Amino acid sequence: MTIQIDDSIRAIPKAELHVHIEGTVTPEKCRELAAKNNVTLAPDLFTPDGSAYQYNDFFHLVTSVYDNMAQSIRTKEDYEDITYDYLTRCAAENALYVEMIAWCSAGKAVGLSYPDMIEGMAAGIDRAQKDTGIIARINTTLVRHQPLDVVWEEARTIAAYNHPYIVGLDVAGGESSGDLPQYQPVFDYIQQNFGRPLGMRVHAGEAQGPENVDDAIYLLPQPTRIGHGVRSIEDKEVIHDLIDNHIVLEVCPTSNILAKIYPDYASHPLRKLKDAGVLVCLNSDDPGLFGNSLGQEYQVARDHFGFTDDELREATKVAISKAFIDTPTKSTLLKKVDASVQQGFFKPHAPAAGPHP
Ligand SMILES: [Zn+2]
Repeated sequence: MTIQIDDSIRAIPKAELHVHIEGTVTPEKCRELAAKNNVTLAPDLFTPDGSAYQYNDFFHLVTSVYDNMAQSIRTKEDYEDITYDYLTRCAAENALYVEMIAWCSAGKAVGLSYPDMIEGMAAGIDRAQKDTGIIARINTTLVRHQPLDVVWEEARTIAAYNHPYIVGLDVAGGESSGDLPQYQPVFDYIQQNFGRPLGMRVHAGEAQGPENVDDAIYLLPQPTRIGHGVRSIEDKEVIHDLIDNHIVLEVCPTSNILAKIYPDYASHPLRKLKDAGVLVCLNSDDPGLFGNSLGQEYQVARDHFGFTDDELREATKVAISKAFIDTPTKSTLLKKVDASVQQGFFKPHAPAAGPHP
């Protein structure tokens, strides 16, 4: 699903809080990494023209297709490569800030340690910032549907590695009813042992309904952001709780359509959530896998949800305000968004060509 971005959308400064690092890998980058690492990919991984991943349904896409694609990522340098690749793509769409989600056990199957994965991502972040000015940070995540002893092992791994670019803590993966409270002691343990407070966010209210968001809101420590959370619209009380607690929903419209949470954009509650007074920002979720981008989500917000330029800028400012970064960086980024109103144009800062030093 690729949507053309027009110049007025490109001119809007953007920020993203919800994107999974492995999910940013395009078919082209996947083939490049697989060739470098001598990984044999499934013959039907891509469409016949090679431009997209091939899948039967969303579940197939985010399980076996995702797993097969992720096998191409083997080393610390690969994480640097995919991070740099994604962030420079974002910078070319006038993104100022991105927070990426990293599952702490993602490299385990190929013998890559969590610190190596994070150091690779950090190197990609530094290189992208040097070449384009974009700023990025990392949220580390636990994954649901694992036995709790595995989750606790991951918690100890996370708590023991305090990299300055890790700024937030998340739980992702398939939602199931009533599953969130069991992670409270795990989050508490990480927060108490990491060495500094981490921003708190939770995936909720996507596959499951508003009660799942309610569980997330009342988790300790309380999250300031909910990944997706779109099904909050089904319960007025939950909407009030989101507003009263200034919690932002990281909305990923195209992802929700592909996942068949809603049949089409016309049925998606983004506009209703915004009009109800809920803080929302726009996100791509797994752009390499889905074939979308952050810029395309802004285009979708205008074309299908009637977002004006001011509302799109507001979504960016909501994301920056709720980012897990320091206050001086937030103020600098917010000033850039305000300055864009006067400038009205955008010229991407081209990254340096050729291999990095
Ligand atoms: Zn997600």
